[in-house]
Amino acid sequence: MIEYENLKKVNNLIYKDYSQKIQKFLISNDFILGKNVSNFEKNFAKFCKTKYCVGVNSGLDALILSLETLSLKKGSEIIVASNTYIATITAIIRLGLKPILVEPDLNSYNIDPNKIVKNLSIKTKGIIVTHLYGRPCEMDKIMKIVKKHKLYLIEDCSQAHGAKFKNKLAGSFGDFGCFSFYPTKNLGALGDAGAITLNNKKYYERLLSYRNYGSMIGNKRKYKFIGYNSRLDEIHAAFLNLKLKYLNKINNKKKQLAKIYDLNLTDQIIKPEKNKNYINVFHIYNIRLKNQIVRDKLQKFLFKNKIYTHIHYPFAPHEHNVYKKYFKKKKYFLSEKIHKTTLSLPISFFHTKKQINEVCKKINFFFNNY
Ligand SMILES: *Cc1c(COP(=O)(O)O)cnc(C)c1O
Repeated sequence: MIEYENLKKVNNLIYKDYSQKIQKFLISNDFILGKNVSNFEKNFAKFCKTKYCVGVNSGLDALILSLETLSLKKGSEIIVASNTYIATITAIIRLGLKPILVEPDLNSYNIDPNKIVKNLSIKTKGIIVTHLYGRPCEMDKIMKIVKKHKLYLIEDCSQAHGAKFKNKLAGSFGDFGCFSFYPTKNLGALGDAGAITLNNKKYYERLLSYRNYGSMIGNKRKYKFIGYNSRLDEIHAAFLNLKLKYLNKINNKKKQLAKIYDLNLTDQIIKPEKNKNYINVFHIYNIRLKNQIVRDKLQKFLFKNKIYTHIHYPFAPHEHNVYKKYFKKKKYFLSEKIHKTTLSLPISFFHTKKQINEVCKKINFFFNNY
């Protein structure tokens, strides 16, 4: 059997150290916004090469608090990829802002920079780019648009911990880099957790306040904003501090496994595009098939052979009934095509090269006999 993911095996790296931490933690009396959180924030900002980091409750909260910090007028428009994970769009709607969906590039699966400008209006205030599957967006083109049109930029880095575009880290381009540490992410905690990376001191101070009920820094019983309760827990920060030391190792292993797929998988499927401008950290190794029938048949065939795969995600955001009204029932064909024809193959830190070679063999067998 080849599992899609097994977090017990991934986190095995640090269970021993973490067990010792937990022993200390139990008698620490320090559960909320203590040393573990401030250490992690310092370490993660250093890792991302930003001045600041603010730990929050989840990736969704990282997006919501970042948007809140900008104090945009209700109804302001935010550009976002039509094929992002739903959370990116949820955050925009939650703030009373209007998501403007822009189709992705079918080679990169990321927002197509060439389609952004024609979607701008006088109400456009910002862009949220999602570095999907672990591959960074084309940040040089996007930064040009952001500067020219004086827009805010938020990066959804929840699938891109440690990914780089032209040697610059995901989370260090925009006004805010939003990260999720949901357990399955490349840097995953033992529950819900998230963080925001940034360089602007004013935004940094606002975020510290928003995550803690809007309280004033230095006087937590006085409130400056109507805030949130979105504090990163000490117990997760302690785990993340340990795991962060292994993030490059985890990413490198995933890159090695991706190379095996790249070299061995039949050319009858579309593999993730490569170019020298970026480093993909392969949160997901995503292949694309001719059509949905072939995709579903391949997934069933692999399942019968005890190779477990996933679909990220079965439906495009605009296809869900509850979201339709925000997009005036418009169609986004490229996004739909991606959701119908792609498949995510096993690519976890714990997988062996032998296992990935086995997956390649089975997929190639399927195509030779299809
Ligand atoms: C996981 C993920 C999120 C949300 O993270 P949570 O911690 O589950 O709230 C947001 N955006 C993307 C692209 C993600 O993959």
